[in-house]
Amino acid sequence: MAVWVGLGALALLVGAVFLQARALARCRFWCPSCGELFALPWTKLLFRQHINEEWRLTCPHCGQKGWCPARRPYRGGDNP
Ligand SMILES: [Zn+2]
Repeated sequence: MAVWVGLGALALLVGAVFLQARALARCRFWCPSCGELFALPWTKLLFRQHINEEWRLTCPHCGQKGWCPARRPYRGGDNP
């Protein structure tokens, strides 16, 4: 029985990772090297290393790999 509980937990975890990637695909990331804002398709955001809102990504503009702060999608209002 434990194996089914394990599989269920794994399915939930995978689902959470997918949902997180889908949500992140709507965000913009700021490159600390060249200062450009960029978006990535959710398939490229799966299993990325991150600390809070900073994601280890490769910038599509300058090709530098670095910690890129995520900007949440604009929802109106001055301070989201
Ligand atoms: Zn860059």
